Amino acid sequence: AKAEGRGTARPFAPAMDAALAERRQLEIDLRRAIAQDELVLHYQPQVRSACGRLVGFEALVRWRHPVRGLVPPGAFIPLAEETGLVVPLGEWVLRAACREAAGWACRLKVAVNLSPRQFQQADLPERVLAILTETGLSPDRLEIEVTETVIINDMARALTVLRRLKGFGIRIAMDDFGTGYSSLATLQAFPFDKIKIDRSFVSQLAERPSAAVIVRAVLGLGRSLRIGVVAEGVETDEQMRFLVEEGCEEVQGYLIGKPQPIERLAGALERDLTW
Ligand code: C2E
Ligand code: CA
Ligand code: CA
Ligand code: CA
Repeated sequence: AKAEGRGTARPFAPAMDAALAERRQLEIDLRRAIAQDELVLHYQPQVRSACGRLVGFEALVRWRHPVRGLVPPGAFIPLAEETGLVVPLGEWVLRAACREAAGWACRLKVAVNLSPRQFQQADLPERVLAILTETGLSPDRLEIEVTETVIINDMARALTVLRRLKGFGIRIAMDDFGTGYSSLATLQAFPFDKIKIDRSFVSQLAERPSAAVIVRAVLGLGRSLRIGVVAEGVETDEQMRFLVEEGCEEVQGYLIGKPQPIERLAGALERDLTW
């Protein structure tokens, strides 16, 4: 009778309850996943566009869920961000990426995504440094990817934290560039080594003339500010040709390689050559 009453008074309540319950369960599961090493990193190659030479790999987290199988980050990072679980999760990712990269038979870089929540920790630089020391990875082999959200949240703090990280010798990349609200002034004020052009622009190169205009503009910006530019989400030969012609130095995308477990990249890591 109670359920019936609720159903008539608040027609959406049962569905909302179900969604909430699922979220709670996901949160419980995710907590366990972090503690019990159910997370795993896949690595996507980044190469020089002109010659195909490997530059490094971006580490991308996946969840090996006991029931649901391999879960992509889009299904749990947003919740992790909301609940704050992204802090221990992000630290797990950083530690795992540094440990694995320290064991590679080459000096390729590893790029790790840091979430806005992680930047709210005052001692983030010390935490990162402690992980580098613990794993033995040389700081110049670590690249940290941050989105515009990190900067917009609290500019002064972001600048202090990024400068300290940079001071350790870590490289800093601006991720998903073009999707947020960063201005030219922001780019200039922050110590970025690299700008990553968001996939949405690259994927629309053939269909939308404005996408080509934006990609060219970002490449021009990179040249003027002497910041390296990487194009993300390169999937076709046509996109690749355009990017090479326009002088985009580095590329990342399914055309070059999908994110893969480290075991599958062992050969490339030993050769440290062309992808
Ligand atoms: P992102 O940092 O922009 O990472 C690039 C995403 O684009 C990855 O998705 C990658 O697999 C995908 N991608 C790369 N090349 C192509 C392509 O050619 N075509 C298409 N369609 N997709 C491509 P993924 O691994 O599902 O990750 C999604 C997002 O989840 C990431 O976007 C990042 O924001 C977040 N994420 C992943 N791992 C972590 C992590 O360890 N920490 C944090 N905070 N966020 C993470
Ligand atoms: Ca990224
Ligand atoms: Ca990105
Ligand atoms: Ca993205």
